[in-house]
Amino acid sequence: MKVTEHLFKTKKSLFSFEILPPLRGHDIKDIFSTLDPLMEFCPPFIDVTYHREEFFYVEKDNGFLQRKKISRRPGTVGICAAIMNKYGVDAVPHLICGGFNKQMTENALIDLNFLGIDNVLVLRGDPIKYEKSFIPKKDGHKYAVELVQQVTNLNLGKYLDQTFVEKKDTPLFDFCIGVAGYPEKHLEAPNIESDLFFLKKKVEAGADYIVTQMFFDNKKFFSFVKKCRSVGISVPIIPGIKPISSKKQLNILPSRFYLNIPNELVKEVEKAKNKKNVFHIGIEWAIHQSKELKNSGVEVIHYYTMDKPENIYNIVKAIY
Ligand code: FAD
Repeated sequence: MKVTEHLFKTKKSLFSFEILPPLRGHDIKDIFSTLDPLMEFCPPFIDVTYHREEFFYVEKDNGFLQRKKISRRPGTVGICAAIMNKYGVDAVPHLICGGFNKQMTENALIDLNFLGIDNVLVLRGDPIKYEKSFIPKKDGHKYAVELVQQVTNLNLGKYLDQTFVEKKDTPLFDFCIGVAGYPEKHLEAPNIESDLFFLKKKVEAGADYIVTQMFFDNKKFFSFVKKCRSVGISVPIIPGIKPISSKKQLNILPSRFYLNIPNELVKEVEKAKNKKNVFHIGIEWAIHQSKELKNSGVEVIHYYTMDKPENIYNIVKAIY
């Protein structure tokens, strides 16, 4: 079932979350042990992130550096299929522009369709290490909006090249398309107005809903929703929540994701005596945020697990 159908049907606020594929070398049981405890709360859909290939430099015996290219977290599509098969829950693979040309994307969408997956979260992806800005693959997409347009075209039965396509009366594809939104603006955007302008373009190109970047101050989310509505973005907007789980994150999260952490939370985390304490503070803060969001009537709250289900379990147990 499509994410939007879950949203339209529900009478109460739902819970969903996203997981990362495990590092190369792990097996699917590691994913199941992240998912098993959270299944108690009946998530209607689960997102699986996509991680493109990364570059590494390894020193050889002669002292020269050798450049290696590897995907450290492969398996997004396989994990989605395993989730749908084992739990009967809809899986939402993330689909990115980075590392894909249009033909590779079309083939990936055909695979998803054959697996019975009819949801995708469409993203541009970040620049890879050593790149100053995002560089698309040759014949790939530069912005997420272009990828949304490709999925929409396929939904309409328009392949990249019709020459070798068997004609069908009804289009095979009917993907529900999600895209990313940034309550505190995307880090590259010169201002929020410009970011909203391009967010609206993604919706006009066919996006059915928006999932937000994490935020720690609900006021940012409420103001973002208001701004979206005022520029004519009317699709559902799903808030993304991540509990703080270490002191390091006070610096890492703002620099990596361009977001603010409220002073009150910073002070509490800084005062914490140990990791367990920080973990507890992160959970309490996220419970507080979730309660307010739920009371405001959001259809679903989306949690970033970062493969640590324990804190999400505690939050969700207190909320759902
Ligand atoms: P875009 O919508 O293309 O926007 C990128 C920037 O370009 C913005 O500043 C925007 O304002 C600007 N822009 C957009 N269109 C245009 C245009 N036509 N002309 C000029 N400027 C334009 N990354 C992964 O690699 N894998 C994942 O699985 C993943 N999952 C994510 C899930 C969520 C919910 C979120 C919020 C992010 C996720 N990301 C993921 C990170 C995401 O890929 C990065 O934030 C990336 O830098 C931007 O992606 P986007 O889809 O928002 O890009």
